[in-house]
Amino acid sequence: MPKIGSRKVHALLFLFAFTGCHGDGALLRFRSVSLGDGLSVYLGAGGNSVALDTNDGVMLVDTKLLWGATELRHAIARQSPSPVRLVVYTHYHLDHASGTAAFPRRARVAAHRNVAADLTKFTSQFGVNVTDTVPPDLLIDAVTPLSMGGEEIVLVPTPGGHTNGDLAIWLPARRVLVVGDLWSNGYFPHADPNGSGSFLRWVDSIDQLAAFPAARVIPGHGEVGGPADLTQLKNYLHNLRDALTPLVKAGFSEQEAAASLDLADLGLRPLPFLSSHEGAVHGMYDELLHQ
Ligand SMILES: [Zn+2]
Ligand SMILES: [Zn+2]
Repeated sequence: MPKIGSRKVHALLFLFAFTGCHGDGALLRFRSVSLGDGLSVYLGAGGNSVALDTNDGVMLVDTKLLWGATELRHAIARQSPSPVRLVVYTHYHLDHASGTAAFPRRARVAAHRNVAADLTKFTSQFGVNVTDTVPPDLLIDAVTPLSMGGEEIVLVPTPGGHTNGDLAIWLPARRVLVVGDLWSNGYFPHADPNGSGSFLRWVDSIDQLAAFPAARVIPGHGEVGGPADLTQLKNYLHNLRDALTPLVKAGFSEQEAAASLDLADLGLRPLPFLSSHEGAVHGMYDELLHQ
């Protein structure tokens, strides 16, 4: 068993920062949601995780923080006697990719090619010191269809929005799309500057994701949603870019541009210390100014 003492404290502090000020305990609470026929979503205790029970073992998307991963491992074991044979990271952030050490080391680990280098950045993320992350050994930089136990799994790299290692997972037979933190249900987007995130690139990523004929969309945080939720975020990002572009070209300062924006309230809310409308305006303005 890995030692989790001080790291657990740090992880709890991280999660408190992540959810506490907003009072949104639902993001913190571990919860299982069955989507039927061997597909389960495990919400909370870090980023959302998704387990697909195939005839050749379990495919697991994201492994949460280490302390949440132990609960995740038990929950998966209750649903399937099969071992986890494939882990997929949606990106490098510790709340999605640092729990792998809680699982037996017999799974391949797939991720966008950039995640291998990005994982070293865990040591400075939110003051959390994570030294036993499991790096990917299946590096993805193009759309990659996999066949596993009779299930078709398509790995779809969309780097550059939330981080430079974003990866979505498309399950065509089920019409389920797993998008990681490219969409957190109900929240403004956050482009991570440490991970070379970009609001401009995010516009392309969300267009790419919204083109899938998904019936269900599983976000990095929050409840399972559908294509209308992706459209909501797509509209926000497009509107933000399209409204700011002429203002930047006309020489407006960031403050003047922000004051001139008249975007419809799309029902998104801030995530403390991470995402806000003001943060998105700042990021998009800065990128447009320097492109
Ligand atoms: Zn996350
Ligand atoms: Zn993230």
